[in-house]
Amino acid sequence: MSLSTDVIRLVLGMLIGIILPRIPLLFFTRFLNMEQELPPHPDPVPIGIPLVQRLLLMRRIHVMCWITATLPLALGLWILQNSPEPFAFGMVAGASWFAISRIVPEDIEQGFGILPLSLIKSVNNLREPENDCCEQATLFWEVRSIRCKQCRFIALETPRPDLGRMRSDGRFKGSLRVLLMDGRPIFPPSDSSVVSEGPELLSKVTEEE
Ligand SMILES: [Zn+2]
Repeated sequence: MSLSTDVIRLVLGMLIGIILPRIPLLFFTRFLNMEQELPPHPDPVPIGIPLVQRLLLMRRIHVMCWITATLPLALGLWILQNSPEPFAFGMVAGASWFAISRIVPEDIEQGFGILPLSLIKSVNNLREPENDCCEQATLFWEVRSIRCKQCRFIALETPRPDLGRMRSDGRFKGSLRVLLMDGRPIFPPSDSSVVSEGPELLSKVTEEE
């Protein structure tokens, strides 16, 4: 077998190992027509019970991804036991990358996982905040933070993660973006990156996101 066919098989295996674990994230809410409760993407989402429910559901979907990740991993390892097949090696590498990207936390204080329970709790607490920022306080989760629609007060400076809504940038482009970002917010937490220092550069992305 020539080297180029081996490379193609390796890459194909890797793609399957990368995409397969994320299938629930890509399709679960988006293709089950669960759009009624939340405003359409990319509109800000009001802080309320539907949002908290959606966050808990997204957390469960992220757990589901671990189950679908075992498929390429187990299959790849099983094939590798019998023969050194590049396709199987690719699948194992892709699925392992998925596992590493989830296990290593971006910010240890934020907790593990893409949607840590601590974040969902903070959002839930904002449904009935202790101090209202203004008379007609209405909190919305915008792309970069949770803010009051009336007075623009920032209640929680956390960028919005993927909420499983049908994306406005189309099925293909939207899926590709979810695949690359793993459902994480497109922006890093405000003080952790150089990117946050150049908001002007990213303002175009904000509009799209
Ligand atoms: Zn306000």
